[in-house]
Amino acid sequence: MKDLLIHELKDIYNAEQQITKALPKMMEACSSDRLRMAFEDHFKVTEKQIQRLDKVFEMVGEKATGEKCKAMEGIIKECESMMSERADKSVMDAALIACAQRVEHYEIAAYGTVRTYANQLGMQDVVKQLEMTLKEEKQTDALLTEIAEQAVNIKAER
Ligand code: FE
Ligand code: FE
Ligand code: FE
Repeated sequence: MKDLLIHELKDIYNAEQQITKALPKMMEACSSDRLRMAFEDHFKVTEKQIQRLDKVFEMVGEKATGEKCKAMEGIIKECESMMSERADKSVMDAALIACAQRVEHYEIAAYGTVRTYANQLGMQDVVKQLEMTLKEEKQTDALLTEIAEQAVNIKAER
């Protein structure tokens, strides 16, 4: 179980690093100020989450290394091909939210899993760290839904 926990931590560590590279491109492709601010905030949060994972690796006595997360690579590739399309500004914003929510849902699944493993293994200090990040990912997902429903999707429909 501990080996599996470490494997999953390496996967999400790499996924987070891929996200820090993708978010600046998404900020550039985006037209809504509110959405751009959400991406910018989450970029900063993501950097802190990586530092948190560094701490977690230390706690479990493992070197902080990543293992290529092919799923995140795929999600980001889809996002990049979306960004290369020509579209009305608000339609592009709606598409960016669709991509970003896929990213957040992957992270919610991953952090929920490692949190549960750490709990099973009695690593309460690790659980605490992972739960902080899980909460942030869920909050971001909810914020994206709000921005979509209150602004971006309405504009895109017009
Ligand atoms: Fe994250
Ligand atoms: Fe993965
Ligand atoms: Fe995230």
